[in-house]
Amino acid sequence: MKNIRNSINDFNEAKQVIPGGVNSPVRAYGNVGGTPRFIKEAKGAYLIDEDDNSYIDFVQSYGPLILGHSHEIVIQAVQQAAQKGLSYGAPTELETALAKEIISTCEGVEKIRLVNSGTEATMSAIRLARAFSSKDGIMKFEGCYHGHSDSLLVKSGSGLATFGETSSKGVIHDIAKHTFVAQYNNLDSVLECLKAHKNIGTIIVEPIAGNMGLVPATQEFLQGLRSICDKEHIVLIIDEVMSGFRASLKGSYPFYEVKGDLTTYGKVIGGGMPLAAFGGRAEIMDMLSPLGNVYQAGTLSGNPIAVSAGLATLAVIKQDTGLYTRLESLANQFSNGFMQIAKKYNISLQTAVRGGYDNHTVKSSCSSLLISNCEER
Ligand SMILES: *Cc1c(COP(=O)(O)O)cnc(C)c1O
Repeated sequence: MKNIRNSINDFNEAKQVIPGGVNSPVRAYGNVGGTPRFIKEAKGAYLIDEDDNSYIDFVQSYGPLILGHSHEIVIQAVQQAAQKGLSYGAPTELETALAKEIISTCEGVEKIRLVNSGTEATMSAIRLARAFSSKDGIMKFEGCYHGHSDSLLVKSGSGLATFGETSSKGVIHDIAKHTFVAQYNNLDSVLECLKAHKNIGTIIVEPIAGNMGLVPATQEFLQGLRSICDKEHIVLIIDEVMSGFRASLKGSYPFYEVKGDLTTYGKVIGGGMPLAAFGGRAEIMDMLSPLGNVYQAGTLSGNPIAVSAGLATLAVIKQDTGLYTRLESLANQFSNGFMQIAKKYNISLQTAVRGGYDNHTVKSSCSSLLISNCEER
């Protein structure tokens, strides 16, 4: 057994002043048991805890660290940016550079705005979609996670095509009643829901669901959603906060060839710093203030340090032509190894890997490690 005395002490101390001792619930190890390790530093694939134990880290901060911990180029970019000031409350050329980088890489994004977290990105995208569609109702899917804004902390009630129930105390029914929950990979449930509720103007979906284990959308489902949205004038929000720049350089697009009217990003685009974004058709994005009357703002939005980390991360990803193929083989190695062990001990186990169109080649089956299992994080 490893000595984890310092982590135990740190956790007890943290619990005195921080609810549950953590700043995001999944870190408390509630679902797996044991004491969370308090980390003092990390490099590459390794975490070092406060007792100097070293761990291979398969979590990588739940998504952002596609290059591993403390990648030299990213750290250097952050250090150089920090020398010049931490926040200006005024625009910078860096923000335009990152916007251009995302727009030129991703499909369906004509304009983009930077925010601080995935939660903010989806929350703002929904506000905008509601304004554009002039309809209050939104549809989400059971098992998809889109952050913790009120409208999205809703799970399906009993039976199909029904009102959602709040999945958190404190979310009021008057908000939850505008969120309808359909079944992932089930177009019939979508059609049924739309038939029963005429006021739905927005659908939000994870194209490769990474928050209920890994469940990729079927072609039929995602392309079907696109056609339904086109036909019914519904704004489709593709939530690529996890899959963006991870399943492939272009996120889920090469797998499905489906563009969102709006798309949300987070995790990888900040390279470990608090940075996320929402973007899409210019016609919709231009409804944001100051151009339009959909309000959205942020004191630290487009923060120069975060944007520098994001730009450096994307630059490394783009230069590394073999990256996604390498991730694919690592992910397969990992999941195959697990399967073998499970088989040996007669444990029923299912694994999935989705990723892998490499940067510059057309197609190579699969890549990245989209392993996550956390409705609560
Ligand atoms: C992580 C995640 C979010 C929320 O992002 P935060 O930065 O944690 O607020 C939203 N959508 C998806 C698909 C995610 O994986």
